[in-house]
Amino acid sequence: MKALSSKVSGIASSATLEIADRAKAMAREGIDVISLSIGEPDFDTPAHIRQACCESIRRGATHYAPSRGIPELLQAIAAKIRAENHFPCTPEQVIATAGAKHAIAMAMEACLNPGDEVILLDPAWVSYEPCVQLAGGKVVHHKVNPKTFQPDDSLLDRITGRTKMIVVNSPNNPTGAVFDRKALSLIADICADYELLAMSDEIYEKLVYGKEHVSLASVGDMAGSTITINGFSKAYAMTGWRLGYAIAPIEVIRQMTKVQQHGVTHPTTFVMWGGVAALIGDQVCVEIMKREFEKRRMYLMDEFSELKVQAAPADGAFYAFINARGDDVEVAEHWLNKAHVAVTPGTAFYAPGWIRLSYATSLPRLKEAMNRIKAVWNEAPERSGGRRGL
Ligand code: PMP
Repeated sequence: MKALSSKVSGIASSATLEIADRAKAMAREGIDVISLSIGEPDFDTPAHIRQACCESIRRGATHYAPSRGIPELLQAIAAKIRAENHFPCTPEQVIATAGAKHAIAMAMEACLNPGDEVILLDPAWVSYEPCVQLAGGKVVHHKVNPKTFQPDDSLLDRITGRTKMIVVNSPNNPTGAVFDRKALSLIADICADYELLAMSDEIYEKLVYGKEHVSLASVGDMAGSTITINGFSKAYAMTGWRLGYAIAPIEVIRQMTKVQQHGVTHPTTFVMWGGVAALIGDQVCVEIMKREFEKRRMYLMDEFSELKVQAAPADGAFYAFINARGDDVEVAEHWLNKAHVAVTPGTAFYAPGWIRLSYATSLPRLKEAMNRIKAVWNEAPERSGGRRGL
């Protein structure tokens, strides 16, 4: 066999999925592993959404659909954006995709030329960099302020003649930070001054605790240069449905549509009917899930404050991001092997020395996980030879 693609060979597989896979393998061996490693709500998709999808299948919604998505969904998304996210949006500026991740990948394909630089704000979610690389672009990493977990004007140092885009993710995975207006205005100013595109991944927008979610596209003139990414996985517990969307200037949407047409054609037709039901139906289901996440978040943050461990603010999403007080990979391995609790080392998010715990698991399981972690809290991970206490 001749050598396979060097572009793909050079890409790391998803670190978050790898750890979750190891936890699953241990579970198959009969070990009671608690997984706090994956970003999936532990709720089932609300009944009215599932029902709408089933009804659409019965009606015969089993055929090809328009490549940007069914008009009912595009209209529902545009209406939601205008009402909740406060920037102008017509259905022509929307593309429905097979998950938010696919929207991100297609947007990179549509926007980047070889060598274009894309700035990621670290800590950053694992899939942005591979999406940029597969599209031929180059990632430039920039750390957010380590105290506030917000971007600051040191970002300017990263701008070069090749910079094409800045990726913003608020509420943030993995830190839980919610970027404030000041931080977003700074990014808007930089994008305007250097004629850059922005990608704003707002998939966790519904999970914000006591803070305001601001859409980057609603700041200044950013609607004209922002690709807003969103989806149904987190807000409506629809991870397995694979449904997301992007809102962007029409020219970007046109290019993304070509990528979609020659790839997946369009998201699954009857899945899109579930999406319509989610957006136009009662939003109380979102509120109920959010309240449950909030309880868990308060429990975890109290625990970490008692343990006097440094933690990111956890204002949004469903992640606690704590200082590992040692080598994060060793600590995560130690917790998996000794406490049977799976967490994600910050290294996966370009933040060595930190650990991400997902609280998308029931409160009793979360309490059990914390008890187990506390039982090994002061043990040094084996591979560090006992030198590095937690
Ligand atoms: N963006 C972020 C920040 C995420 O955490 C995730 C899921 N882990 C996604 C996008 C992808 O979501 P989807 O299931 O819609 O592809």
